[in-house]
Amino acid sequence: DWILHNDEFIREEELNISKEDRGYQFGDGIYEVIRVYEGNLFTAEEHIDRFYESAEKIKVIIPYTKDVFHKLMYDLVEMNEIENGQVYVQLTRGAYTRQHQFPSDTAPVLIAYPKKLERPLELMETGVHAKFIEDIRWLRCDIKSLNLLGNILAKQEAYEAGCFEAILHRGEVVTEGSSSNMYGLKNGVLYTHPASNLILNGITRRVILNLCADLGIEVQELAFTKTQALEMDEFFMSSTTTEVMPIVQIDGQQIGEGVPGELTRKLQEAFEANLKLTVKS
Ligand code: PMP
Repeated sequence: DWILHNDEFIREEELNISKEDRGYQFGDGIYEVIRVYEGNLFTAEEHIDRFYESAEKIKVIIPYTKDVFHKLMYDLVEMNEIENGQVYVQLTRGAYTRQHQFPSDTAPVLIAYPKKLERPLELMETGVHAKFIEDIRWLRCDIKSLNLLGNILAKQEAYEAGCFEAILHRGEVVTEGSSSNMYGLKNGVLYTHPASNLILNGITRRVILNLCADLGIEVQELAFTKTQALEMDEFFMSSTTTEVMPIVQIDGQQIGEGVPGELTRKLQEAFEANLKLTVKS
């Protein structure tokens, strides 16, 4: 398999990362996951824009233009003959003698590699269970940071409880999932946490909000509570790899009829139509 290392394609065996890479020591870096459908990068521009925004927020300069970066991602997918899968890309501040403050003269380190991945079609059909977990993360969740301890501890706790995802909440307020955004539907209106510093503004979230506009589903970007979540008619989560994923049970309590709801289904269909369109163009 080919890996992208800065602007070079190399074999995995050739990859050499310093013991003092700041991503490794401090989680001092950012990442993106871009979905590949039929050899095409889905919503690539949006992911690339967010990658550059995250880099700017942590004051790392990406040494390529967005166009060059896009081409590198595309070549990586092609060279590895990925039809359906994803590209993982991360950028760290680089390697330097361990110190907390930024080194003045070190080059950022970029790594990207793809993997094959099927769509989770069965789970999208049946829906999944989720668990409420206190959101103990920092206050810059808008940055797609490599620091994911808060996220992985929550995901692990959910998994150990037999759940697919953790629904994070700060006090009573639901923010997002450990690796997804969260949505509730009540009386035909879709509610989701506003894109503030408390959540990652998912690319899938943006696609979904656009689809709601197309379908005439009213959207309220308003935070809702745990109690309100349990009283929603329908509930679902979204991410690059899970698309529109129905949540049919939270903390053992059934949501609505305990099966994926009607509007959730409509959004799944619209999402599918949208990705087919994108793939063809
Ligand atoms: N929130 C968090 C914390 C995430 O890790 C992710 C997935 N990367 C998302 C939301 C969903 O974002 P996207 O739709 O861009 O995958």
